[in-house]
Amino acid sequence: MPVAAHLGFLVPAYGQRNLSGTPEIELALHKLNVLGSVLMIAAHPDDENTALLAYYARGRSMRTGYLSLTRGEGGQNLIGPEQGDLLGVIRTQELLAARHIDGAEQFFTRAIDFGYSKSADETLGKWGRDKVLSDVVWVIRNFRPDVVILRFSGTPRDGHGHHQASAILGKEAFSAAADKDRFPEQLRYVRPWQAKRLLFNIFSFSAEQEKEAREMPRRVDVDTGEFNPVLGKSYTEIAGISRSQHRSQGMGAPERRGPSHNYLVTIAGLPADHDALDDVDTAWTRVPGGEAVGRILAEAERTFVPEQPEKTIPLLLKARPMIAAIDDPLAKRKLDELDEALALCSGLWLDAIADRYAAAPGSTVNVELEAINRSTFPVAWAGYSLISARGASTGHNMDSLAANQPKRVTDAWPFAADQAYSQPYWLRKPHTGDTYEIEDQRLIGMADTPPVLTAKFALRFHDVTITLQRAVRYRYVDPTEGELTRSLVVVPQVAVNLPEAVELFPSEKPKKIEIAVKANVAGAAGELRLDLPPGWRAEPVSQPFRVSDAGGELTLAFSITPPRADAQGRLRAIARVDGKEISSGMTVIAFPHIPPQTIFPDAAAKLERTDVMLTARKIGYVMGAGDQVPEALGQLGCEVTLLSAREMAESDLSGFDAIVTGVRAYNVRADLRVNQQRLLDYVHNGGTLIVQYNVAEGGPFGGRRSGDLAHIGPYPLEVGRGRVSVEEAPVRFLVPDHPVMVSPNHVSERDFEGWIQERGLYFASEWDAHYQAVLETHDPGEKPLEGGMLYTRYGKGVYIFSAFSWFRELPAGVPGAYRIFANMLSARGDR
Ligand SMILES: [Zn+2]
Repeated sequence: MPVAAHLGFLVPAYGQRNLSGTPEIELALHKLNVLGSVLMIAAHPDDENTALLAYYARGRSMRTGYLSLTRGEGGQNLIGPEQGDLLGVIRTQELLAARHIDGAEQFFTRAIDFGYSKSADETLGKWGRDKVLSDVVWVIRNFRPDVVILRFSGTPRDGHGHHQASAILGKEAFSAAADKDRFPEQLRYVRPWQAKRLLFNIFSFSAEQEKEAREMPRRVDVDTGEFNPVLGKSYTEIAGISRSQHRSQGMGAPERRGPSHNYLVTIAGLPADHDALDDVDTAWTRVPGGEAVGRILAEAERTFVPEQPEKTIPLLLKARPMIAAIDDPLAKRKLDELDEALALCSGLWLDAIADRYAAAPGSTVNVELEAINRSTFPVAWAGYSLISARGASTGHNMDSLAANQPKRVTDAWPFAADQAYSQPYWLRKPHTGDTYEIEDQRLIGMADTPPVLTAKFALRFHDVTITLQRAVRYRYVDPTEGELTRSLVVVPQVAVNLPEAVELFPSEKPKKIEIAVKANVAGAAGELRLDLPPGWRAEPVSQPFRVSDAGGELTLAFSITPPRADAQGRLRAIARVDGKEISSGMTVIAFPHIPPQTIFPDAAAKLERTDVMLTARKIGYVMGAGDQVPEALGQLGCEVTLLSAREMAESDLSGFDAIVTGVRAYNVRADLRVNQQRLLDYVHNGGTLIVQYNVAEGGPFGGRRSGDLAHIGPYPLEVGRGRVSVEEAPVRFLVPDHPVMVSPNHVSERDFEGWIQERGLYFASEWDAHYQAVLETHDPGEKPLEGGMLYTRYGKGVYIFSAFSWFRELPAGVPGAYRIFANMLSARGDR
């Protein structure tokens, strides 16, 4: 990428560099002599062969990249309630954390992971084939890989439609990238590029696949179990650490030792027999005028003395003007790498630190720039500039940097009054379909948003001036974690946070909505008003506010009266501050394995007026992997208690009208499994228990027996792998006038309209005759699935197993989902 790769290379994703000292310099010097590159393409975060990436990046010093078509937005989050866009933000950072370890670069297309897809046609139809193909071509033209490696075959054997599509598009892009008539609008920025060959990395997960791979006539065998003594690890060990960064999908992986065979077969371009880069010149001889450069850099590598790295500097300085004279994108990239190698050899530390981590448009941040030369080689700090997308400032300070003596300069950066907030670039415009809307072609493909402010340092080594860039960051010390840094972000003067993305009005009664106004500057004052569609009323219409401290927050309550009849609309909260209208919230996503992410959701909510009747009020909720169902039940007027392990074991459950288990609760909560008998006793004595989806691991009817789900119901019931991924799939009512379908709300086909992403997953595959299957649904062309909702009376109470995706439909404000869930909660019916 013109900018992304550059910044990605210079700005470590998070935490410390995982290499330092001699191994880091030796590998950097070696890499200067390697001009080969490898790009892997698949569909999702976790599809990549991490060991292979580590082998090419760390072992072979190739420029290595992973293009994931999507950011994994449609998956299930195992570490928190974030779904959709926010999950995509988390997975993006998890991939960057993984790449930081295996040494590869990360890219994406505009495609969104819309959930499981059973065919490539559906996937390409939803994405728009040309739009995503254009992005794959764009990444190839920017990256200019010698070799492209596909993770999938492009056939139904790959399973998931996204997987198939990644290979179909990868194959087409391999030749389209070289064709100047394909996507000619890109040629303003890039040149066409023909990679030497396209390879398929055959799976060898099973002995059968392994055998099949071994029998392929022409294939390359890569042993990623090879030990690298400089790194002190094999590539499979590195892969284990890298892969374990995918925490939101529970991808913790072992660090394997010993041989590990990976097979690559050529599917287009020059066949390869021994190595993926057979017949590819990966030395300096490949660029005109490169031969002499190669000789000098080889000498630099050969004569490197670990105790005196500065002795290597003169050779690097000798090669530098020769590289600068070569007109080739490869030489330009190597020039940047060489400049970083100069910094490494001189122990040069460059830093640009802002006096705060968040700044509002129109405000000024102070930035302290620091340079220390930790060598005896004479280096002078010739000048610096601060640059943002909106311009640059320049400062001069011709100072020689004496050994280990820090030099500091302070400068100020005024942000323009109309400076945009630091929203991830792919979320700046709303997306309605299954691809992101991105205006600037140059941003497409980038893993992350470029820093809001960057410092450029000009440094003079003898008579050669080089420029090095560092993102301006905020540095702080956490008493338990030690020194940390975080990105500088531009935030609104006040953030307007709505409590919910959806406001449900189950009756015509007015409802109180509390809106939080969080000040990001001191003394923020203004007025907050609500914009409502016709027929809706807010009381009061607007309210003044004043927050004295930066970071302070206050809550303003409004009473909203909906129309009598069913209606939908959109509420928008607008703060007027200093004559400027702000309608943006602010969410910070913080986990220990990724840097904090600041997102600015629209200060708007969907309004849904629909009659929902309910006879249950007091609900106990057993939170599993994390979902937003309790908030949704709150919208129905329920009083929801989250049940802790202690309450599961000790408290009196009989006061609850219904108890609901959250998604994957049986998978992740041992206390739930241990107290299952208490829950069943609760049902037996007249309670209602609703069990949402859990991941199948076998059960009482056979298969791989696992304790987790063995006693999930009062009678035997096996959770299978059946799923219905088409959200419009027809739903049939299996039992006429079943109580859960008629009371207190009359459920009809209409209640299954407007669903998102899917119908459900991990349906029951077999069940005891005591259960009644209530609904049937299935994907087009597949066999009927009746295990999505099972109902049984047990003692005086009711037990319902429901693998429908309530955890997606309720937070999305699907009215039918509320009515059906209300019926399940009210299933005992005699209250
Ligand atoms: Zn995948």
